[in-house]
This record gives sequence, structure tokens and C-alpha cells, in this order.
Amino acid sequence: MRLPRFEYLEPSDLEGVLNLLATQGDDTKILAGGTDLLVRMKKGLLKPKTLISLKALNELSYINEEDGCIKIGARTPIADIIASDLIQKEAFALFEACEKIGAISIQHYRGTIGGNILQDNRCIHYNQSEFHRSGRQPCHKDGGKICYARDEADRCNSTCQSDGATALMALGASITLAKKGTERVVEIANFYTTDGIMPFAMESSELLTEIVISIQGGKSSYKRLAYRSAIDYPIVCAGVFLSASDTKKDEIEDARIVVGAMGRSPLFLVQESFSLKGKNLNDTEVFKKVADSSMNSASTFAVHNVGSTLEYRCVMVSEMVLQALKGAAQAVVAAKG
Ligand SMILES: Cc1cc2nc3c(=O)[nH]c(=O)nc-3n(C[C@H](O)[C@H](O)[C@H](O)COP(=O)(O)OP(=O)(O)OC[C@H]3O[C@@H](n4cnc5c(N)ncnc54)[C@H](O)[C@@H]3O)c2cc1C
Ligand code: SF4
Repeated sequence: MRLPRFEYLEPSDLEGVLNLLATQGDDTKILAGGTDLLVRMKKGLLKPKTLISLKALNELSYINEEDGCIKIGARTPIADIIASDLIQKEAFALFEACEKIGAISIQHYRGTIGGNILQDNRCIHYNQSEFHRSGRQPCHKDGGKICYARDEADRCNSTCQSDGATALMALGASITLAKKGTERVVEIANFYTTDGIMPFAMESSELLTEIVISIQGGKSSYKRLAYRSAIDYPIVCAGVFLSASDTKKDEIEDARIVVGAMGRSPLFLVQESFSLKGKNLNDTEVFKKVADSSMNSASTFAVHNVGSTLEYRCVMVSEMVLQALKGAAQAVVAAKG
């Protein structure tokens, strides 16, 4: 498989990138590490005329603590996040998620956190070679009118398999999207459309510049299941954030449960999260009930399109949520002494 021809632009600063994005149009894509984009281009899934590289933008590669928040530049390599003491201390779920991404070569060589969040949704019927796909009618995501993953689907149900996005949503993170002359901040939980063709509520002239996680005094955990421990995308994953009350240290004050790889975006389970407020941090029976309820909620979104059977993935939602709940609860208890 060979890359199609494209024009390569390498601006030297952020202003240069935003100027180009403002004038280039929809045929242009940002190139960060390329570990998602270039693979899709080789498969003929995408044929942009122009790539704007972020290679020279060291200004978008940082992890800082500022005003009670962790700020991460969009072009920060996954390896830097894994190595950060600040992330390990205050955003453990993100550390755990990044440790699982792809393989060491992706984490250390090219992959960035911005590219991880913005990697395209996946589907076993779509992420195939051009030759494979040429043998049948194109599906919605390929420009056609059918879906091989779900009968009578009027839209694409491809799956978001980003480890980073699931962990960041559990941590309540926001992202900054810049375009020439302006920028906006969006909670990552509100960043998704309901269509797998264009999963992100983002304009083609916008650049993801920063990820912000507010330090809330709680603890988080991330668990995932994949066929192999390396190189494979998650087939189901869960991120959990828990914090305890200042006065009653065994009581859950705030909770966020997010299930990933089970829908067009990571799923923030509002009801299950809310049901944990006021519950005891050591109550495993409550955790089991919430994990089963999470399985029921997530099951309605998923389709059979990321390798393993849908039935197995649904059952494993419960297990991943339970493990993540226990992990976060243990960390909160340990921190409270
Ligand atoms: C073998 C293999 C295994 C993988 N396993 C996993 C896995 O287990 N978990 C997982 O989550 N991912 C996995 N990935 C996907 C991918 O490698 C990682 O998500 C990686 O972090 C993507 O980062 P990147 O910088 O290479 O993105 P790129 O490929 O450069 O970009 C991805 C997309 O985001 C856009 N983009 C990137 N940065 C910006 C920005 N700042 N603003 C606007 N648009 C932007 C690009 O235009 C592109 O559409 C795997 C990939 C491969 C090839
Ligand atoms: S979910 Fe359906 S429309 Fe979307 S990529 Fe898969 S087969 Fe195509």
C-alpha cells in the first residue's frame, strides 16, 4: 500500500498553521504523528490534497501545572505523558490509558495526545484495504448508502477506540480549539456528534491546541480489554473518577464513569455516576450493581464492528467498570489515609 500524492506544508509556528487552515479548505488535514492519518491514507480511506505538519510546533508540546489545572499541549508525545510525575499523581487514568496505546513505537516515536483524541472512528467493515472494499458496495462512511454493521442503519455507527479520549472524559477534561483570530473551549464530553462519519463537532479550520484537566482532589482509574496487550486497540474500556467528601472520608462526593470502544464516542454514564454520590467507597456490592447497570446502558449503543462479538464486549463492560471503580476507590482511600 502506497501513500497517495499530497502537498506537504510545515509552518514554523502556530500562527502559520492557523493562517493556512483559514485558507486551505476541507481537502487539508493536520499531520501530527501520522500514526492514524497515514495508515488511513495508505488504505485509500482519505485522500487529502494537503497535509499541514505540526512537526515544528514545539510550542504545542508541554505538560504544565497552572491555576489548579494540568495543561497539555496537543502535540505532546504519548511517551511524555507516560513519563510525567504530574500526570501519574493527578490524572492516573490518563497515565494508564497512554501506557496501553498501541505499542512502544507509537508512544515513543510519533503518536501525540491530540492525534489520539482526534483519530477517526473505526469499523472492521471500513478499515480495510481499497482492494478489500472494492468487492462490494460502499457503506455510509465510504460515501455509500448502507451499513454492514447494523441492518437498516441510516447513519454510520463506527466506534471510537481512543484510549486517551475515554480517560480524559472520565477526568472531566476540556479542550481548546483555535482558529484564526479566535478560540473556544469545549468540554470533551460535549465534543462529539452522533454520526460516525464525522464524529467530532469541530470545523476543518480549527486546530486542537490544548487539553485542560482541572485538579479536583479525587483519584481515577482506567481499565481496558484488547486481544493482545500490545498493538491492539481496545474492544472495551472504562475510565472512572471518584472523590471523597472532606468531612466523611469514606463517602463518595463526586463520580464519573465513562465507557469507551462501545459507541460512536466515549459514553459518559450520567445516571450511574450520579447514583454513586453518598455511597461508601468500600461498598463493593454497590460497585457491582453500578457496573451491571453500566453494561445495560452501554449495550444499547454498541454494534458488532470492532472484532470481538458484541455479546462478549457487552458483558465485559461490567467487568471493566467494576475494576476501574475498585482501582479509583482504593486510590482515594489510600490518599485519605
Ligand atoms: C498498530 C496501531 C495500533 C494502535 N493502537 C491504538 C490503541 O491501542 N489505542 C489508541 O487510542 N490508539 C491506537 N492507535 C491509533 C494512533 O496511533 C494513536 O491514537 C496516536 O496517538 C495518534 O496520534 P498521532 O499524533 O499519530 O495522530 P495523527 O495520525 O497525526 O492524527 C490523527 C487525526 O487527528 C488529526 N489531528 C491530529 N492532531 C490534531 C490537532 N492538533 N488539531 C486538529 N487535528 C489534529 C489529524 O488530522 C488526523 O485526522 C493505533 C495505531 C496503530 C497504527
Ligand atoms: S458502522 Fe456501518 S457505515 Fe459505519 S463504517 Fe461500519 S459498515 Fe460503514
